[in-house]
Amino acid sequence: MMTSQGQHKVIVTKFGGSSLADAGQFRRVRDILLQDPARLYVVPSAPGRRFSGDDKVTDLLYRCHALQSQGQDFSEPFEKLSDRYREIRDELGLSVDLEGELSHIRDKISRGADAHYCASRGEYLNGLLLADFLGWRFMDAAKVVFFKEDGVFDSEKTNVVMMALLADGINTVVPGFYGVMPDGLVHTFSRGGSDITGAIVSRAVRADAYENWTDVSGFLMADPRIVENPREISRITYAELRELSYMGATVLHEDAMFPVHKVGIPTIIRNTLKPDHPGTLISLSLPVEPMAPTVTGIAGHRGFSVVAVEKAMMNAEIGFGRKVLQIFEESGISFEHMPSGIDSLSVVVSGDALAPHREEIVRRIAEEVQPDTLTIHDHMSIIATVGRGMVSNCGTAARLFSAMSRAGINVRMIDQGSSELSIIVGVDDCDFEKTIQAIYQEFVG
Ligand code: ASP
Repeated sequence: MMTSQGQHKVIVTKFGGSSLADAGQFRRVRDILLQDPARLYVVPSAPGRRFSGDDKVTDLLYRCHALQSQGQDFSEPFEKLSDRYREIRDELGLSVDLEGELSHIRDKISRGADAHYCASRGEYLNGLLLADFLGWRFMDAAKVVFFKEDGVFDSEKTNVVMMALLADGINTVVPGFYGVMPDGLVHTFSRGGSDITGAIVSRAVRADAYENWTDVSGFLMADPRIVENPREISRITYAELRELSYMGATVLHEDAMFPVHKVGIPTIIRNTLKPDHPGTLISLSLPVEPMAPTVTGIAGHRGFSVVAVEKAMMNAEIGFGRKVLQIFEESGISFEHMPSGIDSLSVVVSGDALAPHREEIVRRIAEEVQPDTLTIHDHMSIIATVGRGMVSNCGTAARLFSAMSRAGINVRMIDQGSSELSIIVGVDDCDFEKTIQAIYQEFVG
C-alpha cells in the first residue's frame, strides 16, 4: 500500500498479552499481520491470561524472582511459565531452541538476576517464538531501547540507534517492555510497558500508523460498569485522551502517547478477536464532526481530597500560590487540579497520598501563609467531561450543570481546563456514578 506521497506505507503493530496467550492467538496474530503488507514491525507482550483466573507469564516471572530472593525454590512458577511456551512451540511446530533459552534464564535467576531481568524474559521469549513462527527477523530490545543511569528512558539515543537498525523495511519482531541500561543490565518500563515500546518503534521507523491490538475494540465513552452499553469512541485526539486519562490508562499505557503524539503518528486501538472492527483512532487533530455528540468521553475517579485555602487579598500577595504548592511538593504529593478564586485556592490531591502528611501540611500552611480559613474536604470524586466540540458549542456548561441539578447532585468544585477541551467537576464520592450517568444521558442519551 502507498501513501499519498507515493511511498510505501509502514504500520507498527503491538499485540497485548491476551492477544498472544496461546498458539491459537499466535495464528490470529499472523493472519492479521499478513492481511496488510504495510504491517512490517510487530511488538509482542508476554503471554497473558487465557481465561479468568489464569496466570500472566510476567506475574509468574516476578514470582520466580521474589522466591529466589527469599532463598526459596522457584521451580513451580518457572515450570508453569516454561510449559506455556512449550505448548505454543509444540502446537505451532517451531524450531527455536526454547529449552536452551529456558535453562539459561533459569540459571541467571538462580544466580540472583534482578526483577527487571526476570520480568523482561516474558517478552523476550514470546518475541523469539513469534519471529520463528512468522519467519521474521528478531531484534532484541536490549540492542535498541536505552535507559539512562537513573532508569529514565533515553528517547534520543533509542531513536537514533533504532532508526539505524530497524528502518530498513525488513519485517521485524521487537519484544516489548524492556531495554538496557548503560551498564548493560536489562531494564523494564512500568507494567503494561510494551505499549511504550510499540510507540517508540513507530517513531523510529516513521510509521504511518501505530496499531495497538488488544482485547477490546477501543475506548468507550464511559465506563460500562457505570453506564449501560456506552457508545464506542471512533475518533479522539491525543489531547482529549490525555484529559480522559482516568479512563485511558486501562486500555493504553499513558506514556505510550508521547513518542507518537510528538511526531504526529496516529495510534489505532484494535481488537484481535474482532479484526474487522475499526477500533478507536487517536490522532493529533481531528475535525469536529457535525453529527457526533459534543462530548467525546466522560471519565472520573473517586477518593480525592480538596485542601481549600482562603485569605482576603490573596491576589495581591506575591508568592502565595507557590508557597502553598511547595508544601505539597516537599511532602512528595502531586496535585491533580488547582481551581482558584480571587481570595481562595484549592488543591485537589489523592486522598491516599495526603493521609500520611495531613497534619504536617495543615500545620505548614497555617504557619507559612497564615490563611483566614483552611478546610479539607475528603471523599471527593473528580469527573472530566471531554470533547473537542465543546468550545464551539455554546451552552455546554449550562447543559452539564442543569443535568446534574436535575439529578439532585451537589457540585462541590468546578474547573474548566484552560485547553477548553474539558469541564471538570468535583462531587461527593456517593454521587460519582450518578454524575457520570446524568452527563452521559444529557449529551449522548
Ligand atoms: N508483560 C508486561 C506486563 O504484564 C508488559 C506488557 O504486557 O505490556 O506488565
